Amino acid sequence: MAKYTGADCRLCRREGCKLFLKGERCLTKKCAFERRASVPGVHGQARKKQTEYSLQLREKQKVKRAYGLQEKQFRKYYDRAENMRTGIVGENMLSLLERRLDNVVYRMGIGASRAESRQIVSHGHITVNGKSVNIPSYEVKVDDVIAIKENKREKAMFKELKDVKVVMPKWLEFNAEKLTGKINALPGRDDIDLNIQEHLIIELYSK
Ligand code: SF4
Repeated sequence: MAKYTGADCRLCRREGCKLFLKGERCLTKKCAFERRASVPGVHGQARKKQTEYSLQLREKQKVKRAYGLQEKQFRKYYDRAENMRTGIVGENMLSLLERRLDNVVYRMGIGASRAESRQIVSHGHITVNGKSVNIPSYEVKVDDVIAIKENKREKAMFKELKDVKVVMPKWLEFNAEKLTGKINALPGRDDIDLNIQEHLIIELYSK
């Protein structure tokens, strides 16, 4: 499936919830979803009966779009979660998604959105355990040390991090003065900040 190049805010309206795709704007009155929550398009206001399939599809699309993934990439996370020997498939899948380096950079407050964080990673601004990593899908492990590269620290966007207020999930820590963070644990179900009914995604993919 081709990469979506339309307006991000349409995706929130389509999925019926805030996906926080545009950084600070999402927390202001300018948020398009706050102003008009209806589904985009001429039939957006029309009441439609939701079938079981459409509910499952929408849930999958919501999570896929929140993490900024293509269908194939997303499906791989499901397949991996399904093949894991321990845990519950849905929770394993969400944990794997959370462990992506671009998501970690976002959750630490380094990037204002997952898209911006992905760019920060792919532009080579991040190190993991002292080594440069520019792969957004890189999967972090417990005790990994995530840092802004030494020679990039003077950039205004990183200097301003001291003033950014972030609700840090307990599995992560980040010191905005030292521009260094750590993975304290693997993310659990309670650490996922989106309202997700993962069982619908499992039902969709297990057909
Ligand atoms: Fe979604 Fe953010 Fe746009 Fe609001 S501002 S509709 S949360 S992307």
